Amino acid sequence: MADGDERLGAAKNAPPVLICGGGPVGLALAAELGFQRIDCVLVEQGDGSVPVPKMSQLTTRTMEFCRRWNIADRVKRAGWPENHPCDFVYVTSLMGYELYRQKSPSYAQRAELSHSPEGPRHCPQIFFDPVLLEHVSALPTVTLRHRTRLDSFVEETDAIAVQLTDLESGKFETIRASYLVGCDGFDGHIRKALGIEYAGEGILSFSVSVFFRAPELSSKHDKGWARFFRLIDSSGHWGDLVSIDGRELWRLTELRVNSDADVSSFDVESCLRKAVGADFSYEVPSVLPWRRRGLVARSYGRGRVFLAGDAVHQSSPTSGLGMNTGLGDAVDLGWKLAAVIDGWGGDRLLESYGLERMPVGIASVADSDRTYHETTLLRGGSAISQCSAEGESQRRQFAEDLFARTQGRSDPTSENVKLGYCYDKSPIIWSDGTAGPPEDAWDFVPSARPGSRAPHAWIGENRSMLDLFGHGFVLLGFGASPVSVEPLVQVAAARAVPLQIVDIANPDIERLYERKLVLVRPDGHVAWRGDEAPADAQLLIDVVRGKFLGETKQNA
Ligand SMILES: Cc1cc2nc3c(=O)[nH]c(=O)nc-3n(C[C@H](O)[C@H](O)[C@H](O)COP(=O)(O)OP(=O)(O)OC[C@H]3O[C@@H](n4cnc5c(N)ncnc54)[C@H](O)[C@@H]3O)c2cc1C
Repeated sequence: MADGDERLGAAKNAPPVLICGGGPVGLALAAELGFQRIDCVLVEQGDGSVPVPKMSQLTTRTMEFCRRWNIADRVKRAGWPENHPCDFVYVTSLMGYELYRQKSPSYAQRAELSHSPEGPRHCPQIFFDPVLLEHVSALPTVTLRHRTRLDSFVEETDAIAVQLTDLESGKFETIRASYLVGCDGFDGHIRKALGIEYAGEGILSFSVSVFFRAPELSSKHDKGWARFFRLIDSSGHWGDLVSIDGRELWRLTELRVNSDADVSSFDVESCLRKAVGADFSYEVPSVLPWRRRGLVARSYGRGRVFLAGDAVHQSSPTSGLGMNTGLGDAVDLGWKLAAVIDGWGGDRLLESYGLERMPVGIASVADSDRTYHETTLLRGGSAISQCSAEGESQRRQFAEDLFARTQGRSDPTSENVKLGYCYDKSPIIWSDGTAGPPEDAWDFVPSARPGSRAPHAWIGENRSMLDLFGHGFVLLGFGASPVSVEPLVQVAAARAVPLQIVDIANPDIERLYERKLVLVRPDGHVAWRGDEAPADAQLLIDVVRGKFLGETKQNA
């Protein structure tokens, strides 16, 4: 433990971290803790199977996390065929009229992104969660316990006592952990037990998703392979049909049903027939009625207990941000827990988790509310499905309106929302006062402004700048005449803060990072930058390791 810290002592004979919930966010937190070589126990009441493909789209940032955990290639192989186009198509039905097509090339045909070593991927949850699970199961510091339910917990002086039930044997047990993280989804027990409320728009609509298998469907229609079919009738946008595996699995979501609709009264057959436009043979593995919500918790934890993922934010999937935002929570919290458990994280480091991640949660939910409300504005027209001059005119009008609204963009949410979030207001980021892009900027512009994700550039064969970051801090040095950073190195060593110095002799990357020295955190976000060594190395190191929480520091 670093000198001068007054952190609560760790519980004896306890796993440092207990994660409640083995959905994608709990698994991602286990992956990050495993990556940081921290012992943890994950309890999940289910058996690890994933009955419904909810999430389908992984963002660029999520794929960068997968690269960090060395599972990006496995994710790319799971799910969607490399050669299928990923078009987004507006139709009256699969066999009806095509209204508008936003083209999106197959992964095999895509050019490399200039701003990332990875790119977004279609990998629905029935494929993604098992990749995460398989990876986490093999990590030596992670213990997985399925069919185990967390019933309650009590905060003790130096630990959390957690009561569990083994759902196979019915036996109860209590284990103690230094930290508890609730990745237990919407309305999870842990948030409620902490008395933390949600805020936001609340329920946006009642929806039903039907997961079905139809091996012959692809040969029955003339639209070709596409990732997403948006269904429009005379009332407007009523449903979304997503191809899950580019072969035989599909998910149909009806956007708005009566609030009291339940599985037994929902007419699956007529809903599927309406989407396809004809009878066809299928089987239905599962039907999921769900509430589309826009909510963010008022706090991301208390004391030794933290919350992540759907437990703290729910958003309409129209922006495809819910799980992806949760994975960002997991990485932010994961490195901070590791730093504190390893003894170099400051007393206040864990408090910065909510301060950094809640604004991202709020922005994700706001964007998702926006994209949901925008889809409700899509108007069909009484004749839109008819073979008539009036029908033809309404279809043309629909396409023109849509193009004007989307400006031809295939994604309703900007890369700036998904990748450009910046922790510049965080008390553990040392701001240099540089202004960020306007909030509504669409294009993502890589930036090494403190708080931003450090920019990508290739530094070798399949080796990105991003691959330098993960364990401890990295101080990047640019330019022909290196600036002496000896005081910073000494202070870091005195506080046991892992710090690696990496010199980059590449003028293009130097221009991208804009300063001679750039200090990058374990999560790949810039903590500080300058052209000279910091005037007060001690203060800088103590700020970025979370010894203090105060006003954002400027110009060390
Ligand atoms: C139709 C649909 C489409 C979606 N599309 C996207 C998309 O394209 N992109 C995207 O990012 N997101 C999408 N989402 C959202 C995404 O599915 C969720 O954000 C994500 O599943 C949340 O993961 P989580 O791990 O936080 O919670 P969950 O997946 O809800 O997992 C919580 C886990 O905790 C377990 N648990 C709860 N209580 C206990 C307890 N007491 N003890 C032990 N275990 C417990 C539960 O069994 C569960 O396994 C979509 C959602 C829907 C409904």
